[in-house]
Amino acid sequence: MSATNDGLAIAPDVRTTRLWIDGAFVDALDGACYDDLDPAGGDVVARVARGGSADSDRAVAAARRAFDDGPWPRMSAAQRAGVLRRLATLLVDHRDELARLESRDAGKPFRETADRDIPRAADNCAFFAGAIEQREQSAFFDRKPFLGAEREIVSLVRDEPVGVCALLTPWNSPLMQATWKIAPAIAAGNTCVLKPSELTPLSTLRLAELCAEAGVPAGVVNVVTGFGTEAGAPLVADPRVDAVAFTGSEATGIAINRAAAPTLKKVTLELGGKSANVVCDDADPDLAVEGSVLAMFRHSGQVCLAGTRLYVQAGIYDRFVERYLARVRALRVGDPQSRESDLGPLITAQHRDRVERFVADADAAGVPALLHGARPGDPELAAGNYLSPTIFAPHGESEMIACEEVFGPVLSLFRFETLDEVVARANATRFGLAAYVWTANVATGLRFAERVRAGMCWINGYFLRDLRQPFGGTGMSGLGREGGRWSLDFFTEPKLVCIAY
Ligand code: NAD
Repeated sequence: MSATNDGLAIAPDVRTTRLWIDGAFVDALDGACYDDLDPAGGDVVARVARGGSADSDRAVAAARRAFDDGPWPRMSAAQRAGVLRRLATLLVDHRDELARLESRDAGKPFRETADRDIPRAADNCAFFAGAIEQREQSAFFDRKPFLGAEREIVSLVRDEPVGVCALLTPWNSPLMQATWKIAPAIAAGNTCVLKPSELTPLSTLRLAELCAEAGVPAGVVNVVTGFGTEAGAPLVADPRVDAVAFTGSEATGIAINRAAAPTLKKVTLELGGKSANVVCDDADPDLAVEGSVLAMFRHSGQVCLAGTRLYVQAGIYDRFVERYLARVRALRVGDPQSRESDLGPLITAQHRDRVERFVADADAAGVPALLHGARPGDPELAAGNYLSPTIFAPHGESEMIACEEVFGPVLSLFRFETLDEVVARANATRFGLAAYVWTANVATGLRFAERVRAGMCWINGYFLRDLRQPFGGTGMSGLGREGGRWSLDFFTEPKLVCIAY
């Protein structure tokens, strides 16, 4: 270990990373860097180029050139699909390397990065390769009078790429999120500038290299690392950028929507949630306990879809809560690189402080707690941002802990009597991302799904996804949908071409 100016430990394998612009790694124009820290130990994982507005400007110029004059938008869908399939294969080939990198950078359990996130990143690329090849183009035939004669008309709707896309991603599933945006964007013939979270840039930089290896031409995918206001905001305001796809927090989403308005860019926003997870009296107890625990505590609750409000029906409340608590107590908090760990550290020390403040405020407001999270006593974990689960039983949905997105291992637990009651309470939120219901009665599940205000509802399951289906939320959880044809609709503009003959 050596030390930086600010006294932080630097691991021996620490690297300096650069921006990826026009098919090459380059330093930030002013040479600035920042330290990317390991959430599990506080060490510096990498010295990362700190892009500023001049760097975003360069990246947009490269993407613009590649779009206006380069081969990519003019290639056939099948040619672009071939490149995306090669990228998918490369991601599979590099699975372990990427999973280790991402686990180190994001503090996410290796089990999740290796078994779910990296395979899913490869699936994203392979899926959109097929989706763009299969996308239907329309032709309409008609007969209309025109300039004194009856004419036959054939009208075609061409699916054209939007242009240069700014893609802004969060830290909780970096490579999965990056490919979820890059794959449909470039499948449709766009070029892009991606700004990964400043907290987890490493796997996205590796992805940029793999894109080049797969045959993506220079300038089609550019990556500017750095902070949101310095490197991200200039992309959103730039008039040469045609569309912005953002995943992140509610506050940033609002700022981005505002900043994109003067240039009337297309915008899609995937934001936070406070999702209700409803367990009915007739639910399969094993399935409902296991599913409800994982839907809440996966990645220490740092998941947009987390079922952070748990509603248990009165008839099974005591029995269910006893089992649920036992299962949560058995979750192992530990080194994310170990396959034995269920919960890794939170992303930063500041984020853990924020989560602890939520807990302290709820305590101060007299909200009863069934389980109090703590920093682990194990000295081996002392340098990481670890925090074990907390479970509150708030009196109502308006309490701060029950209505704000904590984005940590903190659950709000409620008892309910009837379906009508729980629908109203599930909907008592400004968010509308996901909802879950566990019941043996399909009719109960479907009635709940019909009435709950959310973009997605799972009955007897959680996070089950088919990439053809829409993903996204209502209310303050976002604008638009991603996935399948919804992503391709966003990343294309329909053009009408009418031929009279
Ligand atoms: P964040 O909003 O802080 O940052 C997201 C990205 O936007 C980062 O790359 C950041 O640097 C950039 N950014 C910040 N300010 C910006 C600005 N003014 N202009 C342009 N870019 C800016 O979010 P985060 O903390 O990285 O991620 C956590 C949040 O993401 C949570 O709220 C979570 O619910 C949400 N999330 C949502 C989904 C979903 O699909 N709905 C998925 C994952 C995470």
